[in-house]
Amino acid sequence: MSDCLFCKIAAGEIPADKVYEDDRALVFRDISPQAPTHLLAIPKKHYAAAHEIPQGEMGALLGGLMNALCQALKASGLDKDGYRLVVNSGDSAGQTVGHLHIHALGGRELAWPPG
Ligand code: AMP
Ligand code: ZN
Repeated sequence: MSDCLFCKIAAGEIPADKVYEDDRALVFRDISPQAPTHLLAIPKKHYAAAHEIPQGEMGALLGGLMNALCQALKASGLDKDGYRLVVNSGDSAGQTVGHLHIHALGGRELAWPPG
């Protein structure tokens, strides 16, 4: 999608602090971290939210995304310390970038419930 920030990051048109990348997905550091380690995992193909992925693509796309995220979790040490995964979808959840992404937060105590 031409006017999407994360599509531009996926295409290398806007720089990002990459932690893991393969042909299907990319994991990079959030520019405004809410925890000592704050990663964003995106599929390279544009979908605004998980529920927009066609059934026939769901397994491969989310499987590829979770694989990339897990490689990045291990590379950044969050697999040892613990982490929280968050997906904001739509206005009421506060989604600000309309390209599906999974936040991974860690490196400090994370309050629950999150509020
Ligand atoms: P959300 O509010 O769930 O849509 O999350 C969007 C996230 O993207 C926020 O945490 C932003 O800090 C982050 N963000 C926005 N622009 C960039 C960028 N250029 N590089 C890295 N992270 C970004
Ligand atoms: Zn996009």
